[in-house]
Amino acid sequence: MRVIRAEVMGLCFGVRDALRVIDRVANPGRVTIHGQLVHNEVVLDELAERGFRMVEENQRSGVPETPVVLITAHGVSDRERDRLDRAGKAVVDTTCPLVTRVHQAAQALERAGYHVLVIGVRSHVEVRGVVDDLSSFDVIGSAEEVRTYASKRLGIVCQTTTPEALVARVRAAVSARNPGAEVRFVDTVCLPTKQHQHALEQMLDEVEAVVVVGGRNSNNTRALAARCAERGKRVLRVASAAELDPDWFRELSCVGLTAGTSTLDSTIDEVDSTLRRIALAAEELQPVGAARS
Ligand code: SF4
Repeated sequence: MRVIRAEVMGLCFGVRDALRVIDRVANPGRVTIHGQLVHNEVVLDELAERGFRMVEENQRSGVPETPVVLITAHGVSDRERDRLDRAGKAVVDTTCPLVTRVHQAAQALERAGYHVLVIGVRSHVEVRGVVDDLSSFDVIGSAEEVRTYASKRLGIVCQTTTPEALVARVRAAVSARNPGAEVRFVDTVCLPTKQHQHALEQMLDEVEAVVVVGGRNSNNTRALAARCAERGKRVLRVASAAELDPDWFRELSCVGLTAGTSTLDSTIDEVDSTLRRIALAAEELQPVGAARS
């Protein structure tokens, strides 16, 4: 079995920067992480071991007990930032600049009189942060959800990790269902997400199946896996090498490997070397003569 690595995969600069900031925190016991720093269980377990407190994403309405609150790479609304400020908390901000760009684009569109359409996952913490500062908006998860809107000025932004193909389908549906409207589109899908998706596309023709490494809550990991399934490939989503089952790879001759933007390099390397061990073991088990054919 051959293993092909996607040319671009794993940690993006936004997550890398957030991890660098958190590595420099001298006294983790004084810091509450406001949600999941990244959607990756391996990282979250390490942070808990270091002594950071963490608040679940859907339980952030209370006031953290620690004097310092760390905002994650997914960002929060200005409204939430003000609330933490009024509560006297010192804020360490690791919001990715490309998430800040979505906030700025959405608010600029609203100020200019557009009804804002956010393409993304309604329940995702990044999207909740963006729309919390808006008064006129809809969140759209698929082309089927698009309707005819009362406003004749529609401004579209995207959650940073939205697949480009989904963005194209939703844009087309918005124009089709709102023929008289002025539609303005700001492409806020982040570059690392696009690069991961393009690298996956390049690999998909060659492989029979794909292992996608990433956290269970990770939107971009989910999107990578969904794309593999759409192209008719078998797909295995794992958070770490421990979840690889050799039986799953039986009779496969070529497997691809990719990973979401919050997956550590060390996790990818472990998965890669485990895959190669599985491949070697399968080769050893083949009848003499068949292994090299
Ligand atoms: Fe920033 Fe994109 Fe990484 Fe999110 S996925 S942290 S927006 S670079």
